[in-house]
Amino acid sequence: MSFLHATFPTLAKLAGGWLRTALPDHCALCHRRAARQICADCAHAFDADRTDAPLRCRQCAVALPSLTTRRDGIAPPGVVGATICRTPQPLVCGQCLRLRPAFDATLALADYVAPLDTLMIRLKYHGALPFAREFGERLGDALLTRSDTTALMVPVPLAPSRLASRGFNQAWELSRVASRRAHLPASAHLLHRERTTAAQRGLSRDERRRNLRGAFVASDRVRGRRVVLVDDVMTTGATCDAAAAALKRAGATHVLAAVALRTPPTS
Ligand SMILES: [Zn+2]
Ligand SMILES: [Zn+2]
Repeated sequence: MSFLHATFPTLAKLAGGWLRTALPDHCALCHRRAARQICADCAHAFDADRTDAPLRCRQCAVALPSLTTRRDGIAPPGVVGATICRTPQPLVCGQCLRLRPAFDATLALADYVAPLDTLMIRLKYHGALPFAREFGERLGDALLTRSDTTALMVPVPLAPSRLASRGFNQAWELSRVASRRAHLPASAHLLHRERTTAAQRGLSRDERRRNLRGAFVASDRVRGRRVVLVDDVMTTGATCDAAAAALKRAGATHVLAAVALRTPPTS
């Protein structure tokens, strides 16, 4: 569907990005020889491959710096009095405790920081669609471990004008790959942008919430269903919150936000 919306110049741009990355023989990050977009060494940027992955808020997946721990149970340097445990309990951050988002939980693969942020920028703004496979497969694998076989996968939709200029919705590209990997049905027709909103970049958390209020509408077909809501990056969580609120209004029973990358806290 996404390609049908693409203009010819956009198609040319996408084709160039695809050819450079579709058949990788070198790691996109360190440029050493590799059979896939990211070599095994660089894959350590993902939480699943790290021994020092941060604990994340159960609800919004923000890294919890004061409780950063290593999976081997040893406190990292500079952390004094941290709670260190081998089987950490799900935690909820202060932001989510103050104002519960409409989504029930969040899965994130890593923080939106170097070097993975560069891949996402290349995917979104330079048409490097094969990176959607790298992120999408990892999202699918992570969803498989949750063994929720009844969920519907729904991408966060782009505004029509943004879709027309970009030529594709990166959230749908991630969903297509992740749904095959996790054996979950995916549809881009269950959640729509009701109106065009101002760009979110540069807005505060509260401004983003106001900007997105009522922006989404969901199909009745989500009634009584668990939904995996897919997006590329969660920054403040306002977009997923507004989308999840629409899904809940339409009768979804549970919404798991599944994002490739999560913006870390600024302080
Ligand atoms: Zn590498
Ligand atoms: Zn949180």
